[in-house]
Amino acid sequence: MTHPNPWRRSHADHPSPLARRQFASDNYSGICPEAWQAMADANCGHAPGYGDDAWTARATDLLRQLFEVDCEVFFTFNGTSANALSLAAICQSYHSIVCHQLAHVETDECGAPEFFSNGTKLLPLPGAQGRVEPDAVAETVLKRTDIHYPKPRVLSVTQSTEMGTVYTLPQLQELHEVTRRYDLRFHMDGARFANAVATLGVAPKEITWKAGVDVLCFGGTKNGMAVGEAIVFFKHDLAHEFAYRCKQSGQLASKMRFLAAPWVGLLQSGAWLKNAQHANRAAARMETGLLAIPGVEFLAPREANACFVRLPVETCEALKARGWRFYTFIGAGGCRLMTSWDTSDEDVDALLKDIRELMATPAVV
Ligand SMILES: *Cc1c(COP(=O)(O)O)cnc(C)c1O
Repeated sequence: MTHPNPWRRSHADHPSPLARRQFASDNYSGICPEAWQAMADANCGHAPGYGDDAWTARATDLLRQLFEVDCEVFFTFNGTSANALSLAAICQSYHSIVCHQLAHVETDECGAPEFFSNGTKLLPLPGAQGRVEPDAVAETVLKRTDIHYPKPRVLSVTQSTEMGTVYTLPQLQELHEVTRRYDLRFHMDGARFANAVATLGVAPKEITWKAGVDVLCFGGTKNGMAVGEAIVFFKHDLAHEFAYRCKQSGQLASKMRFLAAPWVGLLQSGAWLKNAQHANRAAARMETGLLAIPGVEFLAPREANACFVRLPVETCEALKARGWRFYTFIGAGGCRLMTSWDTSDEDVDALLKDIRELMATPAVV
């Protein structure tokens, strides 16, 4: 039986530190130099707590500049709280949130969106390659309009998606049209928003507020920060009293400047985009290598910083035995290989070499 505390293992249970850069998640990586430097710069004496400091003001201004609009910005420690709290702010408890069935809010947040919204129901939809499809949203909204069914109020999409794909601008515009038609609010989980911007090569405003997005959870952690996500409300009234939600849920950082400073570092230097472009390029290199290996099947096209492939189960196991870490939560043999801001060509080539070797050798049963 699993112990009630999943983190009770001691250091002795980690005989060899995982020094090698891995492909399990972009949160395996460390802190990028720009974020680290900004933290050091912020660590120069005293500053007011709870966000009344110059770093928080500067980070907020930089986000407004990035999105070219006067938006409301809040900083939280992680993406689960950013999603759950922002969704709670735009729903009543009797509402429902339409999302993809693989959405992080549905599968990876332990019910936080439902919890913080006092019971708002998620309505998960299937959809090819991790994307929500406009017709499916319409069908779900129209399925029931009576008083007994939770009233659909929000469409939540993930950009880039949980399958490593990216919604194009026309796809977002179509979804925007559906949200207009059915009076839905539009939420975007942007844990990997920077990677989507890098893929599409558009100004951030084009795929957010100009495409009807009401609130974006902009991921900092997977982009190179230690911790932190920015919640960006493009409609001021939706942020009404939002600071109280942050405080009540334990997401109001006392030394807020250390959540805000990395944003200053990333945004001022342009590292937010450079990091994402780097990670996407590493994934593209991986894609090219994998496509050349007979027997490797892509489960979704590579569009951002992940390759989703099916490998023989024995290959997965042998890779793990060689010390590689990656997730296989997407069914037998389904592997997610995720690159990060610091993934090197050599890292990618080393993994490819092992996959090539293992797949060239017939499995010994
Ligand atoms: C990582 C991630 C989040 C944030 O998760 P936390 O672990 O709570 O920071 C949110 N959405 C998606 C799609 C993610 O991949």
